[in-house]
Amino acid sequence: MTGGPERLDRFMARANAIYYATRDPFADFTTAPEISQAFGEILGAWAAVVWQGMGCPDPVILAEAGPGRGTLMADARRLIGKVAPDFAKALRLHLIETSPSLRKVQQAALASHEVSWHERIESLPDGPLILLANEFLDALPIRQFRREGGGWLEHHVDQGRSAWLEEGSPSGPAALRAVPEGGHIEVCEPAMEVVSWLCARLGDQGGAALLLDYGPGAAGHGDTLQALRDGAPCDPLGPAGEADLTAHVDFPALRDIASGVRVFGPMPQGRFLEALGLFARIERLARSQPPGQGGGLVEAAHRLADPARMGTLFKVMALCHPSLATPPGFEDDNP
Ligand code: SAH
Repeated sequence: MTGGPERLDRFMARANAIYYATRDPFADFTTAPEISQAFGEILGAWAAVVWQGMGCPDPVILAEAGPGRGTLMADARRLIGKVAPDFAKALRLHLIETSPSLRKVQQAALASHEVSWHERIESLPDGPLILLANEFLDALPIRQFRREGGGWLEHHVDQGRSAWLEEGSPSGPAALRAVPEGGHIEVCEPAMEVVSWLCARLGDQGGAALLLDYGPGAAGHGDTLQALRDGAPCDPLGPAGEADLTAHVDFPALRDIASGVRVFGPMPQGRFLEALGLFARIERLARSQPPGQGGGLVEAAHRLADPARMGTLFKVMALCHPSLATPPGFEDDNP
């Protein structure tokens, strides 16, 4: 890339588009649905209960944003077929995925179902909607700003190096935070657009969205951009498309911009999964294994739920039409 410094979000968008289209991301990192089938099954059960709370609309859109290998949706759909046949008949599967190669993998994972793909969430068809998104928002491009002399410098990438230039200034709730001289803030404009769109859509046409991702539960202002390659951290500003670039999801900021819906969470993923019976489900699965072979399943569940592992760093937040009851797993609206 020539032409001088590139704004960080543009670099990240370009790098991730190349990365997801040309590499197998799951060689570099793993995700909750790849760790345990119980993850997708629990989210499938969550969707079925929410659908009943919506008054069992038929048809209903069951959508997933950033479905990776399609594992989460395949596990969710299988569970729904077993325990909620009316929901299985009513639902229409829609996936939001930009990568042509991952679309093929998803098609294979969901081969026995009819699926429609979309480039963007905004092109989902009209109607009541239940949307799931695990580790989708963390892949969306961020802008970074540094407080300097009472103003802002913006992070750019110039031939693999950082350049901090006077350009724009942060927008959204994060911009209102007190940032000390030399401190950073990050803003993910596309994540804010996704949440704003979901709020308008769910408020208007009904339904709920469940967003799961890693990020702090309280407002922060650090540099959280990270790159993974072959399972190990590497330089995020290295050659575009060779590593997976992500950043912590600023759930408090997303919560602040939500309007016209009820917002639940962000709550720790471990508490959410345990409230929905993760360990009961795992024990049942482990009992169906040959003697001595259920241990791996139990270990996988601990990896998802234990506070020192994925249970606390990962958060869950739900956006629901105001008429819906508190969805499964959540205690009540946060203050
Ligand atoms: N949810 C999956 C995969 C997470 S990886 C899991 O839990 O295993 C991120 C996913 O989001 C990939 O499928 C990637 O191709 C997709 N993605 C990344 N940026 C996107 C964008 N701007 N629009 C749509 N999908 C995107």
